[in-house]
Amino acid sequence: MSNRRRFLKKLGLLSGSVALTGTIGSKVLAQEAKLKVNQNKSIVLSTWRHGLAANDKAMETILNGGSSLDAVEQGVRVPEADPNVGSVGYGGRPDRDGHVTLDAAIMDAYGNAGSVCFIENYMHPISIARKVMEKTPHVILSGEGAEQFAQEQGFEKKDLLTERAKKDWESWKKKSNYKTEVNVENHDTIGMVALHNGEIVTSCTTSGLAYKMHGRVGDSPIIGAGLFADGEVGACAATGVGEYVLKTQTSFLVVELMRQGKSPEKACIIALQRIKEKYLDKNPDQAFQIGLIALNVSGDYAAYSLVPGFQYAIYHKGENVLIDASSIVK
Ligand code: ASP
Repeated sequence: MSNRRRFLKKLGLLSGSVALTGTIGSKVLAQEAKLKVNQNKSIVLSTWRHGLAANDKAMETILNGGSSLDAVEQGVRVPEADPNVGSVGYGGRPDRDGHVTLDAAIMDAYGNAGSVCFIENYMHPISIARKVMEKTPHVILSGEGAEQFAQEQGFEKKDLLTERAKKDWESWKKKSNYKTEVNVENHDTIGMVALHNGEIVTSCTTSGLAYKMHGRVGDSPIIGAGLFADGEVGACAATGVGEYVLKTQTSFLVVELMRQGKSPEKACIIALQRIKEKYLDKNPDQAFQIGLIALNVSGDYAAYSLVPGFQYAIYHKGENVLIDASSIVK
């Protein structure tokens, strides 16, 4: 029995009518399991207030017959297109040289992942990341190469610097004082994790830290740091100052802890504790936030942050609500 078939059997998803497909290159094809949509079993969790609208779209996608992967792609496209969200896609804050450079990644339940980073002039990096996953032998494309690929795939170019973001940048330039702020919309990635039809997946998209150095890439497009999914265990996505998430491989760690039997909440707490001990305690003057969302294959979920102020949106059993996450530093 193939791993894939064994996996589906374990989840109780295998029936005679499910058509299994093979592999293309190193990629496992996610096949269509023709199962009934059970909204009560579908969960979508995402970061910050803009997660509410993203969750709505994700659940609508599921109810219209989409997969969990379709849901996390379509969901995060909402803040990507919203000029009023200053931390994602169109309307995102630029780097210190005035360029809006974006990072995004997506990971399915079968170990496939795609990502773009340091990409300019494309409103939906999440959809380009999905194409990287599905149409290339690679995982990450960056900068000009990612833009060339986007153009070849027919994505439309767009100037993403809005008047509002430009004005804010111009006033920031007067002092050019670079420092990360806690829970201020100078960052705030949308990260999303979803479970539907037994498939647990994740996505993440951001303009990164406002006024970052030109060329800076954060945690969001890095598999294992800003996001990670393992179809047999669970998924995690992160937001906050990506440098700390990169240095601790936070999302991978959370999923590994869940694999060892920890609940999503306990796994988030342990991962945040690591960041606190390694970085915050040694440099208490440095204020920064890290927020995590995690979900396991049984449908247990949690969100937790380093310091107070992180909010997450949860869509489950017909309700989509915004909740204040608990934090390890009170
Ligand atoms: N994690 C993102 C980055 O460092 C920003 C954020 O989520 O706030 O690029």
